[in-house]
Amino acid sequence: MLFKDLNIVEPIQRALKTQGYSKATPIQEKAIPSILKGIDLLGCAQTGTGKTAAFAIPILQGLAAEPQIKGKRQIKALVLAPTRELAIQISDSFKAYGKHLGLKTLVIYGGVSQNPQTKFLGIGVDILVATPGRLLDLINQRFVRLNNIKYFVLDEADQMLDMGMLEDVKRIIDYIPPKRQTLFFSATMPHEIEKLANQILKDPVKVAITPVSSTVDIIEQSVYFVNKGNKIHLLNHLLKDKSIESALVFSRTKHGADQIVKQLEKSGHNAQAIHGNKSQNARQLALKNFKERKTRVLVATDIAARGIDIDELSHVINFDLPEVPETYVHRIGRTGRAGLGGIAISFCDQEEQALLRDIQKLISKAVPVVEDHPFQLIEKPFEMKAAAVLNRKHSAPKTPASNNRRGSGFGASKSNNRKNDKARDYNKNKKNDKWQ
Ligand code: AMP
Repeated sequence: MLFKDLNIVEPIQRALKTQGYSKATPIQEKAIPSILKGIDLLGCAQTGTGKTAAFAIPILQGLAAEPQIKGKRQIKALVLAPTRELAIQISDSFKAYGKHLGLKTLVIYGGVSQNPQTKFLGIGVDILVATPGRLLDLINQRFVRLNNIKYFVLDEADQMLDMGMLEDVKRIIDYIPPKRQTLFFSATMPHEIEKLANQILKDPVKVAITPVSSTVDIIEQSVYFVNKGNKIHLLNHLLKDKSIESALVFSRTKHGADQIVKQLEKSGHNAQAIHGNKSQNARQLALKNFKERKTRVLVATDIAARGIDIDELSHVINFDLPEVPETYVHRIGRTGRAGLGGIAISFCDQEEQALLRDIQKLISKAVPVVEDHPFQLIEKPFEMKAAAVLNRKHSAPKTPASNNRRGSGFGASKSNNRKNDKARDYNKNKKNDKWQ
């Protein structure tokens, strides 16, 4: 469906054209008409579906239709996002789609000085995009007033829960007038998120975009069974293939991500890491270098990478399998953007076989196994015999001496309580302003 058929006003249509958007994506087609009518929305969708535009376009249209009041601009739309990278992306989207409307958008997050943010808040903004910790700080310092909010968006709510941000979010909601339109997005619906959605939404329309069939089907997936200690050798081996133009490599831990980069650099590969222990500047720079193709390999943890929008990413490599199967879909969805197929490679060691089983159950299919590689597991797992076998050849020579070498292993230390780990990270880093 075309944007003009969704009754989008001309200045926004013009801006979308500049962005190269010709048609609305399914979530935009479903969500925009309801949002324009003022109805609350519960969106079950992940990044990559076009959900940012699905809420940004109708909010911009609504704000543009309001009469301009003389005096300082008041914040009328608030968007909460879990990570600063996602917050920046959302804010950039509002600016891009609303560039002919004369509205002011500001993004605020921690890890940087608050002074430029409070300066802009003092001048006045219409749309505020924020991460919860910094916003709460600035509310407490009375730099932000939310009593004129008409649109409230909670994006990636499940991620906020994982990161231990839900209490901050609830405190922020207490400052927003109940008479508002609320748009609530979450890729998954754990019980606590459902409860929060029920509390803050009024008669919402529900829009679910199932990423599993739409995203996963167009991505070429494969799994390599490999000993933990050989994962780095396998990664080095695969990266000899020049057709891997840009690879986003997922590590379960921050330490693991650093170790992978160190080893890849030793082998002459161009790699950088992005995770919560890096400064805001280092993270932005690593992302910029990767987007500009100055860095070929970006090694990331889930939290750092979630929501990051990278066009034309050729490969996603799961160095460690995620403990939550939905995260697999989020990760590999990075390479299947806007209908483009991509390649997702997963490494699976002995301890991760149960995780692979959960993933296969979620996506309702077996991930093809690549047998033809020099770092096979000694004990072949059940899946290897049962699953379809993908005979992808690799030009790099086999190195029998290194076969089945059991290294000390890094980057795969199993966290038994991922949610607590993340919550601890958030609360610890909140003090240091690392995540915000
Ligand atoms: P999101 O799910 O909001 O992260 O969006 C994923 C990607 O799709 C971003 O790169 C957007 O710029 C892009 N996108 C959003 N809407 C459209 C559209 N209607 N047509 C083409 N690309 C789009």
